[in-house]
Amino acid sequence: MELNVSKELKAIGAVGRALICERVGDIVLSGRVIRLEEPVTLDLAWTYDGKGIVLSGSLSSAVRMNCTKCNEEFVRAFTVEVSERFLKVSESEAEELDCYPYSGDVLSLDKPVRDLIVLNAPAYGLCRPGCCGLCPVCGANLNNTQCSCELPDDGNPFAVLKGLAGLLNDQEE
Ligand SMILES: [Zn+2]
Ligand SMILES: [Zn+2]
Repeated sequence: MELNVSKELKAIGAVGRALICERVGDIVLSGRVIRLEEPVTLDLAWTYDGKGIVLSGSLSSAVRMNCTKCNEEFVRAFTVEVSERFLKVSESEAEELDCYPYSGDVLSLDKPVRDLIVLNAPAYGLCRPGCCGLCPVCGANLNNTQCSCELPDDGNPFAVLKGLAGLLNDQEE
């Protein structure tokens, strides 16, 4: 993913704009795989301020993940704000200055895009609001089926409420 900024580099303050839509493969981190279900869409504006390129806009895509309660796969869209700075420095200097390096007329967006996704893509969640989860006895997905299992006392939400009521009464005394 690249951005040609040759025009803006010649005119301080001139604003360049682009809408980029590109498929990005799975991102593998230690212990986590980010599966991007949709192409990454970048809606960008940038300007040269005399020292470097200031890039702003938004990044959106969607990740495929498993529900934390029922383990069913689902897709969640996300959008994050883009606000980055590119300076004509070496890679190690860029790291120190908390910016991205560039040289010539073209910005490579691969690293910033990856960083933005790693930091902002939702990592866990529920497949739907109020997901019923799995039956702790038979493992049935309670969103789709209703099993006839008897829950043990400690798995019964009313047992918890009873315990809580007891606790509140104790405090009042
Ligand atoms: Zn679920
Ligand atoms: Zn069951």
